[in-house]
Amino acid sequence: MLLRRGRVCNRDRAADALAALEHEAMNRQDKEEEVMNRYPICFIVPSKLLRHFADRAASADERTSLLAAIELSEHLRGQRSVAGIAALTPAQTSEERRTIFDAHHQKRLPGKLVRGEGAPPAADQTVNEAYDSAGTTYQFYREILRRNSIDGRGLRLDSTVHYAQKFNNAFWNGRQMVYGDGDGKIFVGFAQAIDVVAHELTHGVTQYSVPGGGLTYDGQSGALNESISDVFGSVVKQWKLGQTVDKADWLIGEGIMAPGAGKALRSMKNPGDTTQTWAGDDQPGNMSGFVPDGDVHTNSGIPNHAFYFAAMALGGQSWKEAGPIWYKALSLLTPDATFADAAAATTQAAGLLFSTKQQKAVSDAWKQVGVILQAA
Ligand SMILES: [Zn+2]
Repeated sequence: MLLRRGRVCNRDRAADALAALEHEAMNRQDKEEEVMNRYPICFIVPSKLLRHFADRAASADERTSLLAAIELSEHLRGQRSVAGIAALTPAQTSEERRTIFDAHHQKRLPGKLVRGEGAPPAADQTVNEAYDSAGTTYQFYREILRRNSIDGRGLRLDSTVHYAQKFNNAFWNGRQMVYGDGDGKIFVGFAQAIDVVAHELTHGVTQYSVPGGGLTYDGQSGALNESISDVFGSVVKQWKLGQTVDKADWLIGEGIMAPGAGKALRSMKNPGDTTQTWAGDDQPGNMSGFVPDGDVHTNSGIPNHAFYFAAMALGGQSWKEAGPIWYKALSLLTPDATFADAAAATTQAAGLLFSTKQQKAVSDAWKQVGVILQAA
């Protein structure tokens, strides 16, 4: 009797366990689909920049090729659900794993494998740049933020170089990095710029760190998503160069533009300063300039500026306090977070990691950009 009861009990337990597993699998599938649908392809160069240059193209050929780049970007954006998080089933590992592929100017991903982890440098410099930049970003997250790769579980860092013909962009597609070569007139390449690479890989970090599958790529949460990538793009660059905050250039994409086209994509120190960036840069640095329905790469100037103010107030090296505070804040955000939510989360994170001095520096920074209103 006891035995029978035991069996029944065991059977019930087994059935319960099975039901729980099925339920969990269904939940996971729902969650993955939700993330897949939401997760965008994040380009480093916004369409507005390509349009700006297309409108001013010297020849019909140049204009056509710029418009083709916009069209390709739009087309790729439409394919975003193909490259969702569901495709990632990483084996947990504590080692760095980089894999570089060559698309040979085609649009098929990932392309031909040309360099794996630990392999000697390739003859192609772009391959080595992509390999080294991914390595610097991995080491930063590992040594400074104690994070094992993008997903925190040792995700393999895949990159494809020489994507399409003279492609004026680089992007993270939810699964891997992809670099165009640039047309030589506006852009001269992307893989050598550590801030560009760290920016793109940080989109992956955000995707995995903000509970609920990342920050929705639209409105203020989208601008925050962009800003967080700029923040760590700049911090990783400063870390690599051993620069203190007062020595850093606070530019994003310095060196990727052809000299006649511009100096950088964005300035965190002075958003919208076209003398430091490019002629059509319209980023606001304060809520007074917030663009309703603006591009996520436009309004990101506001939270970028807040990070700059916080890092300057804290002083020294940005990866010691300001960077870890912003990183910690990711876990306190939700997918639809606003700038005000980010102000609250970073202030809270400063208190969790440090003390009232850092909290004040962070909340003052958000006041300086008009996100937290100054007391009258
Ligand atoms: Zn981005």
